Amino acid sequence: MIPFEEAYEIVMGSVVRTGTETISFTDSPGRILAESVTSDIDMPPFDKASMDGFACRRLEIHNELEIIETIPAGKKPGKKLGRNQCARIMTGAAVPEGADCVIIVEETEILPSERLRFIGTYSKDNIACKGEDVKKGDLLLGAWRQIKPQDVAIMASAGKTTVSVSRMPAVAVISSGNEIVEPQYFPGESQIRNSNSWQLLAQITRAGAMGRYYGIARDDEDATFQLVSRAIEENDLVIITGGVSMGDFDFVPGVLENAGVRLLFTRVAVQPGKPTTFGIHENAAVFGLPGNPVSSFMMFEMLIRPFISAMMNYNWRPSCPEYPLKDDFTRKYAERMALIPVRITEDGFVQPVEYHGSAHITALSGADGIITVPLGVTNLVKGTLLTFRQI
Ligand code: AMP
Ligand code: MG
Repeated sequence: MIPFEEAYEIVMGSVVRTGTETISFTDSPGRILAESVTSDIDMPPFDKASMDGFACRRLEIHNELEIIETIPAGKKPGKKLGRNQCARIMTGAAVPEGADCVIIVEETEILPSERLRFIGTYSKDNIACKGEDVKKGDLLLGAWRQIKPQDVAIMASAGKTTVSVSRMPAVAVISSGNEIVEPQYFPGESQIRNSNSWQLLAQITRAGAMGRYYGIARDDEDATFQLVSRAIEENDLVIITGGVSMGDFDFVPGVLENAGVRLLFTRVAVQPGKPTTFGIHENAAVFGLPGNPVSSFMMFEMLIRPFISAMMNYNWRPSCPEYPLKDDFTRKYAERMALIPVRITEDGFVQPVEYHGSAHITALSGADGIITVPLGVTNLVKGTLLTFRQI
């Protein structure tokens, strides 16, 4: 059994990058940007009116002004402003030569002479100057970030219609166990519905990878071997749940070795998640996770999600604010690091949720996140600041 930190180091030291591919920017949200994006134009591209009103000279703002044209957005101004002249202008239109100010329509009136008069006291410029946001050639987006909707607007503005991103790892999911039936069936006596596979596939999607489901392996060495071998052939990463404990039918570690996987660890000092197994094959990395859905969920979050991110060269970090502990916490044994589902109380404390063990999936679903109690620690005093990890 190795400490969690050592398991994490081994996992992160085994990352193989997936490489890159080019896709349309419209398909890029959520993907990892694999190049930097620069601007091919100034932004704004011309001196632009930021309000509807009249373009004029600031020095002449208190004079009666002749209106020489109307400039809608998208039209080039036709005339240069002469003395005591102005142009009616719309938001987004190019400011005519000679103007240095746009007075807003609400602060003007048209005189019987059809001239314009400013009726405000002070006017802002209301002009967004060419290149004030971005200069041609400026860096807009650095590589190796997860693309957000706002970034898509930037790509659109810079004409970046195809973009290089990290290839999504293909991740196979296999469940094991003679007692497992798929969710659409009503479980018979001694049967359990398969929740792990579907939870894992959702976690894989959230981690930005592509999940592929390979079904349920019966507790039979040959059947498991066939399924695992095919999954290793066809994917970058294989996750098999169940069959990694000490039971008479827990074949998975042996099967993995027969399939050519070099096992790097088979026990981690965490609770839940102790039988977590990890190994590498020349074609794929393989995780064997415990069958209990809470254990499987937690070990995916703690080890596999960072691993998948690193395969895409993305340095994902969970959001981890600190909160004080609501009540004293004690546990009897401390030979493993504990991962405890908690909620955030209305008065801003962390509090463990009622939790009966690693099959208690409703506890997890009702939790806001988890806290970690380090190996060797049995007591935490009320009020201690703890790192809360959102799940
Ligand atoms: P195992 O790791 O195979 O010993 O399984 C540990 C526990 O998790 C047993 O109670 C199993 O029935 C349960 N379990 C195993 N696989 C799944 C699954 N895919 N979905 C839900 N529960 C499971
Ligand atoms: Mg089993």
